[in-house]
Amino acid sequence: MLRACGAGVGPQLLRAALGLGAWPGPERAASGTRGQGWLQPAGHDTGVKVYNSLTRRKDPLIVGSADAASWYSCGPTVYDHAHLGHACSYVRFDIIRRILTRVFGCNIIMVMGITDVDDKIIKRAGEMNVSPASLANLYEENFKQDMAALKVLPPTVYLRVTENIPHIISFIEGIIANGHAYSTAQGNVYFDLRSRGDRYGKLVGAVPSPAAEPVDSDKRHPSDFALWKAAKPREVFWASPWGNGRPGWHIECSTISSLVFGSRLDIHSGGIDLAFPHHENEIAQCEAFHQCRQWGNYFLHSGHLHVKGKEEKMSKSLKNYITVKDFLKTFSPDVFRLFCMRSSYRSAVDYSDGTMLEAKHLLLAAAAFIEDARAYMKGQLVCGPVGEGLLWERLRHTREAVKAALADDFDTPAAVDAVMDLIHRGNGQLQARTKRPFWVICPRSPVVPGVLPCSAPSCPTLNTSSRPSGSLWQTDSSFQATAARPLSTAWWRNWYGSGSRSGSSRWPAERPPGRPSGSSGWTGSPCWRRVTLCARTSPPTASALRTGAARPRGSCWVRTADQGAEGSRHSSVKALH
Ligand SMILES: [Zn+2]
Repeated sequence: MLRACGAGVGPQLLRAALGLGAWPGPERAASGTRGQGWLQPAGHDTGVKVYNSLTRRKDPLIVGSADAASWYSCGPTVYDHAHLGHACSYVRFDIIRRILTRVFGCNIIMVMGITDVDDKIIKRAGEMNVSPASLANLYEENFKQDMAALKVLPPTVYLRVTENIPHIISFIEGIIANGHAYSTAQGNVYFDLRSRGDRYGKLVGAVPSPAAEPVDSDKRHPSDFALWKAAKPREVFWASPWGNGRPGWHIECSTISSLVFGSRLDIHSGGIDLAFPHHENEIAQCEAFHQCRQWGNYFLHSGHLHVKGKEEKMSKSLKNYITVKDFLKTFSPDVFRLFCMRSSYRSAVDYSDGTMLEAKHLLLAAAAFIEDARAYMKGQLVCGPVGEGLLWERLRHTREAVKAALADDFDTPAAVDAVMDLIHRGNGQLQARTKRPFWVICPRSPVVPGVLPCSAPSCPTLNTSSRPSGSLWQTDSSFQATAARPLSTAWWRNWYGSGSRSGSSRWPAERPPGRPSGSSGWTGSPCWRRVTLCARTSPPTASALRTGAARPRGSCWVRTADQGAEGSRHSSVKALH
């Protein structure tokens, strides 16, 4: 029997495998009462303030342990392809999970329940003339593939409903034993809502009117909800103390979460449409089972994705959805992620081609800036004077602004704005006068490790007299007498025109200037040349160059170690100036 203080071997092994240690007791320290009876938990303060649906305000996010913060995420009901409405919620929470891990050093143990038996699955399987299990298996794999394609990190563990039926039955027995549920002659088990008193409604504030019940309902009260449903003809079922049947929807998540995390859950997430009745009922079930005042400490809800101009959220039942697979035929997962980051995870967000294109252009602007910054660092981008001190200051300021934004309920729009502002200012400095081809290089920045500041060469085809002091150029007669060849500490592709390998299929992807693809007389095989830069007043030894010990005052030297087309090795040290 699955109990708060007497978990079976299975849950304990699972907890151990997840690094969660012993099962926590049902009672815990509370540092004070806040809001609507919410208990601020004891533990590790992450430094983040998070909007908590339980209190409807931003609370300090305090988790049990920075090494293993517990997070339960409601997973999919696997009866069809995932659409962008689902994806939006999972991507937004993936962003939050990464922020907590990478920015605030909080290791997350995430459990996700997979609903692999329910009315929709049974109905769809009947329509397709397949078993509910095979249908669920197909769409569970589809869901995982879609999430991977969107770069959503998988949870620490997925737990399927059908593989936890004995635990669910034990959980229901525990709730009945604690006086909060009852079974009926028809083989159903219901949660007795009146037994909760005014503790029901933590999320929604008041108990909404129940939906109209059929006249033959065996509930004691119309608002009571099912924990166990008696089997209907031709439906999949499991044996239980109340007869053949299957679990209700809400009890799955309560059981699976408690199975791993016991009576304390740090974070619970899901779409806003799950707040009622699903999460409200999860809370009632768990607190009734664990006999505790507060089971989940923070409930995070994501806003809906709407099709622009429409009132309704994107959903399968409204047939206004775009599948993840179709979306990814047009846009990249990074575009969708940036689209998600440009709004608060809590807000409703409009989907349209226009909003996606805006995200795409922002992403392109960021990529172009990074490319320019790298080109500048390598000396390929020749621009006016760059105030690097100012840029370092802006970078420091941006780091602080981003962290402050993320600590304020994961304010990703403000963080994106801060980064785009840095890019805007950086672009103002990196105004190119000349952008050289990749094989022409002159490191310009003193921040490039091991490279001396140098004057810009006026022309990419340098001769000895025009080679400026400290520049990192080499004329190379091996492929063109007048070509200047770039040197750096990276590996550079090199070409040999030995003439002995006519018809070689190993043509390099990039060719030196003036050597078109497949031209006669250029038949050598590509090989790689490791070029190590150094600067000394006398030729360094090969070993000093290899270890990088010979840097960086005085003249520049280069050591080359070549693997030629015939497999011969050459090693030499050349003075560059
Ligand atoms: Zn759930």
